Amino acid sequence: MRELKELKILVAEDNRINQRIAILTFKQLGVSIDIASNGMEALEMYRKKQYDLILMDMQMPEMDGLEATSEIRSFEQQSKMSHRAVIVALTGSEPTEKRDVCLEAGMNDYMEKPIQEKLLRGLIAKFFN
Ligand SMILES: [Mg+2]
Repeated sequence: MRELKELKILVAEDNRINQRIAILTFKQLGVSIDIASNGMEALEMYRKKQYDLILMDMQMPEMDGLEATSEIRSFEQQSKMSHRAVIVALTGSEPTEKRDVCLEAGMNDYMEKPIQEKLLRGLIAKFFN
């Protein structure tokens, strides 16, 4: 597995409590992360710093998770980056937010909120082995 600490990780989430949970959960893994408060911010941050992993809340003001993901994928294509972020949707339990929709928008996977350390470890192992 790649050194966890070397991974550049962004969590896009508008809810303050969920931001806090994300920061603390990653801290348990010994990793510090960046936070974006909406999809627009996530896109701008990704343009500057090519994150390896982005956890993307589905419902955010300004730009939601699906649109932000599409924009990020377009940016990756247009800029002919060899880099491609792993984007994982943070979903509620609504079925409309499920897998098909996420994958169609170019996401790699999805995870139900709240973020749990065990699931996070599994996710990182899956994509960064
Ligand atoms: Mg939200």
